[in-house]
Amino acid sequence: MNAKPAPIVISSPPEMRDWSRARRLSGGRIGFVPTMGALHDGHLSLFRSAASRTDAVVVSIFVNPAQFGPREDFLHYPRNPQSDLDQCRSAAVDVVFVPAVEAMYLSGHSVVVDETALSQGLCGTSRPGHFRGVLTVVAKLFNIVQPDLAVFGRKDAQQAALIQRMVHDLHFPIELVIAPILRDADGLAMSSRNRYLSDGERRQALAIPEALRCVAEYVRKGGTDAETACNLARKRLSREPDLRLDYLVCVNAETLAPAALLTRGVMVAVAAWVGHTRLIDNILPIEESS
Ligand code: AMP
Repeated sequence: MNAKPAPIVISSPPEMRDWSRARRLSGGRIGFVPTMGALHDGHLSLFRSAASRTDAVVVSIFVNPAQFGPREDFLHYPRNPQSDLDQCRSAAVDVVFVPAVEAMYLSGHSVVVDETALSQGLCGTSRPGHFRGVLTVVAKLFNIVQPDLAVFGRKDAQQAALIQRMVHDLHFPIELVIAPILRDADGLAMSSRNRYLSDGERRQALAIPEALRCVAEYVRKGGTDAETACNLARKRLSREPDLRLDYLVCVNAETLAPAALLTRGVMVAVAAWVGHTRLIDNILPIEESS
């Protein structure tokens, strides 16, 4: 039984900040999970992670226009406010923050947060401006919610690395937790965008976790060479006719610097189009094979 009452829904940034101030004055540590809604169990695992480390959990639901390119799916991005609220309630979230676009991007706004190194490769190459949009909105949300701790998913590994860098470089007094990837029973990493996939596309998309499992298997057998591991994964992906690889790389998960050897902290990250849907996934082969 869930002992907590239904979450409070707040849409005004000043009201959100007032709630946080009052909560902290009464001695509570605040955990925060930013999302774009269309919630699934992957999101819920982040809420639970925040709840286990803090006294109150704030979840934001905001489809951030600034992180979508002009040809991307901002208008069609799935929005399910009632289901989202029900799921927040089931996960004992305290506050759901749902600001309007105009409240987040004030009239005449001209300040952005840009990162100049880690944002350049991987998804930054095919999604120019995406991480500027992400960092700008996360900085705004941090200033509004003023959390003690924030949880992000390793699913978006480059985003996680960039947020860590931003918190460090801009001195945000926030502890970060990077939570593991939750997968469906068939192995596909949960994502709000999976609902775009037809049955046939979903079958082909399963090549992505399978390719990452080939890497894990290679490591389990004692393999350490990054290029060999990447080639094994690419070979698996190349069998799918409607799967178009964007990138498959072996990089340090924190610095995103290319890695020649599979050692601790190194991840194999992949992005691929299946039909019109762009999917990302990754594995830390040493950590996940032991
Ligand atoms: P989104 O709503 O897609 O912006 O995601 C909000 C947060 O949930 C981000 O920190 C994501 O990395 C995280 N997330 C998304 N999918 C998963 C998943 N399958 N497992 C764990 N975390 C996830």
